[in-house]
Amino acid sequence: MNNNQKKLLIIPKRIITADDEDRILQNTAVEIKDGKIISFIPDNQIQKDKYDELYDDRNLTLIPGFIQTHIHLSQTLFRGLAEDLPLLEWLRLKIFPFENAHTENSLKMSAQLSINELLLGGTTTFLDMGTLRSGEVVFSEMINSGIRGFSGKCLMDVNDLFPALMSSTDVEINEIQTLAENFHNSKDGRIKYSFSPRFVLSCTERLLKETKAIMKDYPGSVYHTHSSENVDEIKEVKKRFHKENIEYFDSIGVLDEHTVLAHCVHTSENERKMLKDKNTKIAHCPSANMKLGSGIAPIPKYLKEGISVTLGADGAPCNNNLSIFNEMRLASLIQKPVHGTEIMDAKTLFRMATIEGAKALHLQDEVGSIEPGKKADLVLINLDSYSNSYSDSGETVYSDIVFSSSAENVKSVMVDGEWLVKDRQSLVYDQKEIVAKSREELRELLKRV
Ligand SMILES: [Zn+2]
Repeated sequence: MNNNQKKLLIIPKRIITADDEDRILQNTAVEIKDGKIISFIPDNQIQKDKYDELYDDRNLTLIPGFIQTHIHLSQTLFRGLAEDLPLLEWLRLKIFPFENAHTENSLKMSAQLSINELLLGGTTTFLDMGTLRSGEVVFSEMINSGIRGFSGKCLMDVNDLFPALMSSTDVEINEIQTLAENFHNSKDGRIKYSFSPRFVLSCTERLLKETKAIMKDYPGSVYHTHSSENVDEIKEVKKRFHKENIEYFDSIGVLDEHTVLAHCVHTSENERKMLKDKNTKIAHCPSANMKLGSGIAPIPKYLKEGISVTLGADGAPCNNNLSIFNEMRLASLIQKPVHGTEIMDAKTLFRMATIEGAKALHLQDEVGSIEPGKKADLVLINLDSYSNSYSDSGETVYSDIVFSSSAENVKSVMVDGEWLVKDRQSLVYDQKEIVAKSREELRELLKRV
């Protein structure tokens, strides 16, 4: 029997559904079959002998798998090696030379390190920015690991900062068509393609526009880029195009509901209106924005104006980890001193990291909440640890997750009904092995820089 055809019952302490009513269910089990959530079963109707597998642990809380909408799998190998620099210098001196020195083997290890860390921290879906070369390596790691996500070739046909890391427009366009053809919607739709121009300064207008046109041939794919992250970057964009970053995107027709813009730290009123009118999605990365000294994105303003905001850890070298818990916590805390304590409450952050993430990626019919009919992308988390609230009222669940938990609280994780982490152990990777191999690959990579 194929593993996900098994009938499985999870009996947790409670279920945080993240559905439209934010229901929290007690004394309820979740039935899973064929990778999907079949039904909720009240305690008094459970027939344990009907199932191939029982996960019965009433100390654990069941939540939807987390969704990160901006990640760089290719950069995880470079953690700790690009410290204390602002964005453009960080790219020029460190990240571009490092990415340029990737081989298929070093890229493979970077992808494995990333997926391992994401899964152990309860992230089950991500949107990756990719890298210039060997995109198929990242896709095959995503396929083999069982995680859900989007990746794509990181497009660069201009690079004044580090000219060795770029390609011609024609090559870029050819390669994205091959990759999208081969990988979009593979593995029953678990793997999707993201068209990923790196940022305005690394792409010609032709590349930005033609990529958007190609995207329309691949329903369910997204257009993923960086925007308005840093003041020096914005100055340069203005110098070249005589427009603000988002105004430029709008003028060439690449803003719509399938576009995800990472950062949007510095935006004008006119740009916010464009984001709202085009229903463009923002991936907010507070740790990276703080660490690269970029600034504090006006998230309360975006939310008030009805603009979609979701969360991502960005790259390991500007964070320096991939934990959604850090991003939820920081996204809330950095706004409170200016906007007041009532802003960015824990439930808002939890929804941004789950169902709102699913909506931004147009996956809301499949994942992001715990509801019958959706895919079983689920996380069991221990909120009864020494570091969580000691109250029995159940009212503290959101603040326990957002403000007093970390990846350490995550116990078990499944994607598409398959366990990928069980009892804090990865069922995908041997930790010692991937860390040892990664150290070796990094040593060799640094010789090539
Ligand atoms: Zn990024």
